[in-house]
Amino acid sequence: SKNVVIVGGVGGGMSAATRLRRLDESATITVFEKGPYAGYANCGIPYALGKVIKDDESLILHTPKYFKEYFNIDVYLNTEVVEIDRTNEQVCTQTIGETEIRRVGYDKLILSQGAEAVQPQIDGADQSHVVTLRTISDLEAIRSIMIERCVRDVCIIGGGFISLEAAENLRKMKFGVSIVEQWTHVLPSVDADIAQFLHTELKRNGVKLYLNDTARRIETSHVVLASNGREIPAELVILAVGVRARTSLAKMAGLEVGTQGVKVESHMETSDEDIYAVGDMVETKHIIQQQPRVVALGGPANRQGRLAADDIAGRPVHYRGNIGTTICQVFDLTVGLAGLSVSALRDLGQEPLWVTVHPPHHARYYPNAHPITIKTAFEKGTGRILGVQAVGMAGVDKRIDVLATAMQARMTVFDLEHLELSYAPPYGSAKDPVNMVGFVGSNLLRGDYQIVHGEDINIKNLHAWQVVDVRSPEEFATGHLPGAINLPIATLRSQKLELDQSMPVLVYCYVGYRGYLAYRILSQRGFSVVNLDGGLKTVVEGG
Ligand code: FAD
Repeated sequence: SKNVVIVGGVGGGMSAATRLRRLDESATITVFEKGPYAGYANCGIPYALGKVIKDDESLILHTPKYFKEYFNIDVYLNTEVVEIDRTNEQVCTQTIGETEIRRVGYDKLILSQGAEAVQPQIDGADQSHVVTLRTISDLEAIRSIMIERCVRDVCIIGGGFISLEAAENLRKMKFGVSIVEQWTHVLPSVDADIAQFLHTELKRNGVKLYLNDTARRIETSHVVLASNGREIPAELVILAVGVRARTSLAKMAGLEVGTQGVKVESHMETSDEDIYAVGDMVETKHIIQQQPRVVALGGPANRQGRLAADDIAGRPVHYRGNIGTTICQVFDLTVGLAGLSVSALRDLGQEPLWVTVHPPHHARYYPNAHPITIKTAFEKGTGRILGVQAVGMAGVDKRIDVLATAMQARMTVFDLEHLELSYAPPYGSAKDPVNMVGFVGSNLLRGDYQIVHGEDINIKNLHAWQVVDVRSPEEFATGHLPGAINLPIATLRSQKLELDQSMPVLVYCYVGYRGYLAYRILSQRGFSVVNLDGGLKTVVEGG
């Protein structure tokens, strides 16, 4: 029978351990976890902070006793693996706070050590009120700091998804919250126009944003901004500037490590055939980017753990790679991403096409329909979907997951036109937002219309175009692009047009649909036309 040792007892580690037991009753399975808990839900930590999850205990999904009784797995807590001796196939373990080193042999070793928080070089970051938010111990530390220091204001450094979740939960607890982000917008993995929706929502809920800025110094009661020396009140500072794969143990053992994480084959084997590695510490193929990348997310870690167990149990497996499907709640909004943003694609030297739509999340006539903004990037010519970003109050999760599935099946925007999706008024529309992405993207690829993106034009200088706003006069009166004339779609066909045939026309409405109708009318009358992608909403709300 096999003797399998696992390093790390949370996401990927416990997934591997329990799967292996289901496949092999005879294996000896031992898990070493350096922290005080195994098998807990770190994804729930921000919500425990805000007391949405009322009881911290419920984050601890399982105890060593449970793993022993249900799975005959030995889990050792507070025990760190400090060295891998590959020659003798042994690991060296040390119980936290003790000096004795124990040697434990293995036939197969699975590393699932996760990622560690990047520590930014900021003066004062070593003080006791400066913490990270990654473990239950961090949560406990934050709770005591809150009491000891009578915390009123919290500054979060970094604007990724853990930061946004923490900000929402801290606001719910009535703390003053500010976020300092060095990039121009929060959630750098999405495009700036999608992030603008989040900025509006964060500000509406009282979160102060300091973008394009960093912390120069952390004092006991405030953070000093690098740009202008401004002092942001904070008796508690949360560092959330990203994570780095834990690779030092693997490096020390001479395993191959890439630019971001430990290198693995498609069956999760490292450069040593008896050692596997999974989760946040490994780099795996990004399906869109076609390069190895660390994707520090719960889903990939759990599935990879399962695959490593399958391989050890003699079942042939193949990890298909990731597209980085992510979702995050930001107060009343949900934002989701699958694949790459337009700016990330451009950074890779690609020139994708993209369309933006804002359909209601369910039938417009059914109460409480909310628009979802979906920005979809795809390949010129083929229409293969490369990236999807969505933001809205409801129904975002469903669309991101359908579109993520479509991307993994290598579907194109043409395929989305044909998807048969569930529909009744409370849930969707006969033309679901996912179909709408397909219609609009396919129309563009088929040459049925042409678009211009808000970011590609200078809306303050549109002299090269005849700008036509096809909304109603009432809507036009609430604000319009500079120099625009109002030719409402309802009367466009019957009007004697006073437009110059020799000059291109830029049409727009609020979300893009009436602009498209106007495009079809005007282009069939011989005008050279472009429609503003996603309409005025994308320009105004997406900024
Ligand atoms: P981890 O689950 O981090 O486990 C690694 C374990 O290894 C750690 O407990 C560590 O103590 C232990 N370890 C490391 N070195 C040693 C050693 N030498 N000896 C013994 N033990 C060791 N992902 C999502 O998809 N959705 C979310 O909403 C989401 N929210 C998150 C919220 C928070 C606050 C955090 C921190 C993460 C969140 N994630 C989320 C990410 C997700 O939790 C991780 O991707 C996932 O847990 C990775 O699993 P893993 O096994 O690779 O690492």
